[in-house]
Amino acid sequence: MSIRAYIGLGANLGDAAGTVQAAMQGLATLPTTRLIATSSLYRSAPVGYLEQPDFINAVAVINTDLTPYTLLDGLLALEELFGRQRSFRNAPRTLDMDLLLYGDAVMHDKRLTVPHPRMRDRSFVLVPLHEIAADLHLPDGSVLAELVASCDRTGLHRL
Ligand code: AMP
Repeated sequence: MSIRAYIGLGANLGDAAGTVQAAMQGLATLPTTRLIATSSLYRSAPVGYLEQPDFINAVAVINTDLTPYTLLDGLLALEELFGRQRSFRNAPRTLDMDLLLYGDAVMHDKRLTVPHPRMRDRSFVLVPLHEIAADLHLPDGSVLAELVASCDRTGLHRL
């Protein structure tokens, strides 16, 4: 049976908006996977290390028969495919793709933590997620709309 999964994307080097758009469309090329919807693009100020360009973020929702691990492998492959700066050879990765939610699964092992451990604190995840899944509840029962209402949106702009 097909599982609904949510993918968070971020990029901040090169053509970040083009990279995020292409990677979201790339989700449809994964085996047994259908792209259901994509959020708008958002611009967000960097957190943590501040001396870097703003990020472009978005969230996509898919239906898939892949296991969470094969889906993660697919995301890493798409990061490789779309996430290279074209300017020079062996340039750093420019794209991050996170598995935010995999149905109602709760898992934590060496490779994978789902729901993504930092998604609740990040307006650049919560706001685009809410745009494409307004009625969503997290596996622990928390209501996405309430998390969005109380999150700090400083530095976040919808494009
Ligand atoms: P990063 O490049 O910092 O996003 O880290 C990627 C690594 O985090 C991957 O190799 C995964 O094994 C691990 N990881 C753990 N949980 C998740 C998740 N929910 N989504 C994506 N990567 C995850």
